[in-house]
Amino acid sequence: MRMLLMIVLASLLPAVVDAGPSPDLGAHCMAALLAKQAGRPDAAVSELHAALDIDPNYLEAHWILAWVLHDRGQKSAAIAEFAQVARIDDGGTYGRDAQKTIDRLTAPPPPPPPPAAGRALVALTFDDGPDPNLTPKLLDLLRARGVKATFFMLGPLVKRYPAIVKRIADEGHEVAVHAWDHRLLTGMSAAGVRSQMDRTRDAIAAACGVTPRVMRPPYGGHNAMVRNTVGMPVILWDVDPNDWRDRNSGTVRRRIANGMRPGSIVLMHDIHATTVAAVPGILDDAAAKGLTPVTVSDLIGGAKAGSVWTRVKPRD
Ligand SMILES: [Zn+2]
Repeated sequence: MRMLLMIVLASLLPAVVDAGPSPDLGAHCMAALLAKQAGRPDAAVSELHAALDIDPNYLEAHWILAWVLHDRGQKSAAIAEFAQVARIDDGGTYGRDAQKTIDRLTAPPPPPPPPAAGRALVALTFDDGPDPNLTPKLLDLLRARGVKATFFMLGPLVKRYPAIVKRIADEGHEVAVHAWDHRLLTGMSAAGVRSQMDRTRDAIAAACGVTPRVMRPPYGGHNAMVRNTVGMPVILWDVDPNDWRDRNSGTVRRRIANGMRPGSIVLMHDIHATTVAAVPGILDDAAAKGLTPVTVSDLIGGAKAGSVWTRVKPRD
């Protein structure tokens, strides 16, 4: 009896015999569900692909795969799988749900909140990264609050952590040049300064596809040669919590709260855990003062190369 079943299956599904010992679609899907619940999406995906190798139109496998991809943030791949479900189960329950999900995923994003009245804007800036652990944590915090910041980065770290640079740009923050290394630019030749800028700018553009528009010299050090050479607005700050020296979140938060006012540029470093931990409180303080955090370029508008900015004075 068993033998007969094998022969029938083999004749119906010739591919199955080559594909392996288990033609059981349900077993692959069950294994995929268990892997998904266990937090092993890669294992789930390979089980689902095994099921779809057996039957490319297997509804359940497409449905589970769509959600695994969706939960992994692979939006366009998930939409493609939901489209398969909608096609296979056209007019059915799964098909309708899949179509609804596609509509939701492809809807235009909600408009950004309007800027605060007048020029009650502030730029939060983070230097010396990206850091492999702290920068992603900071990005999570900023994303949860819908806040945009500016990252002045160092060339070798950009080269080492390009995926973090890409995430910074993808999430709407401003990518910006600190320098290649952290040497004082004022002690270099113009060619040396140009090389520091070009190499860092190129590394950032290669990592994320966005060319930086602003720079901040290490230690804030600049002179006429630096200003004439960097080819970008020079961004300094008016609020400095000395977060590199005093590794205390409460101190950092208090100093920023005391100094921050409309048009402020706040200097921080996303390489110190105490600074990243202070960020939610800093965002609360900004909101309480009616200040909306924006990127440096949004704060300064179309500024000339070589112009120096410590704060943008409100015009009204
Ligand atoms: Zn620095």
